[in-house]
Amino acid sequence: MQETLSPKTSDHPVEINSLVKAFGAQVVLDGISLNVKAGEVLAIIGPSGSGKSTLLRCVNHLEKPTGGTIRVCGDYIGYRRKGNVLREIGGRELARQRARTGMVFQNFNLYSHKTALENIIESPVHVRGVDVKTAKARAHALLERVGLADRADAYPAQLSGGQQQRVAIARALAGEPEVMLFDEPTSALDPELVGEVLTVMREIAESGMTMIVVTHEIQFAHDVCNRVVFMADGKIVEEGAPGDVLDNPQAERTQAFLGRFN
Ligand code: ADP
Ligand code: MG
Repeated sequence: MQETLSPKTSDHPVEINSLVKAFGAQVVLDGISLNVKAGEVLAIIGPSGSGKSTLLRCVNHLEKPTGGTIRVCGDYIGYRRKGNVLREIGGRELARQRARTGMVFQNFNLYSHKTALENIIESPVHVRGVDVKTAKARAHALLERVGLADRADAYPAQLSGGQQQRVAIARALAGEPEVMLFDEPTSALDPELVGEVLTVMREIAESGMTMIVVTHEIQFAHDVCNRVVFMADGKIVEEGAPGDVLDNPQAERTQAFLGRFN
């Protein structure tokens, strides 16, 4: 990858420029440009298959872009800059870049053979080299933050879906990320468990965390997010303040999509 490099900026932890992602002949992301400000809470909505998960996965380099650039905290994620050329990186160097983002998945992705506490300390201890005692103390504080102070020793199977997702959020926070990425964090939950997860997410948002949230929870996007992006077919169709995009959508596709929720 070679291109003109602009200087580092710190007020936008995420800068996405003309991002293209193709799987074979299928173009899944078709020129996405999006900057996320520090402390901003961005909602991404859109129909299934529109590329929302792929976009998030590109931001932490779980997927490698076909074209365009992504910077996280000023660095081109997945690359080291040498002069005016970007060289691909891997291993610990990539892991360090990835640690700036904390990812929360639809299906929690907890280690089933580890307790809540062990899930949370795994990455701090094994990737970042934090000593076990410090990592455990932080993990207990995080469990308290997500309302699970008394479930440190529970295994995922002993927890409800909502509790598992809150452990997953605590685990993501344990990496002390600059940006939190949520991919439909409540879509796999029974309806009565959605609220407890959204409450935790709201508290994280209010703490000033920069967040990108892919969600179908329109009310959450409306109440908690600063900006809403509507995606379809790998493109940003419409974006703006939640009150504009959600209450008064301009594009026909946005109107049709939101019509389903009424
Ligand atoms: P969304 O999250 O909006 O539902 P995705 O990003 O999961 O959309 O998927 C967008 C499109 O990319 C879909 O057509 C999906 O089948 C395709 N896709 C996603 N991941 C892969 C992959 N690893 N290989 C091939 N196609 C993929
Ligand atoms: Mg998805």
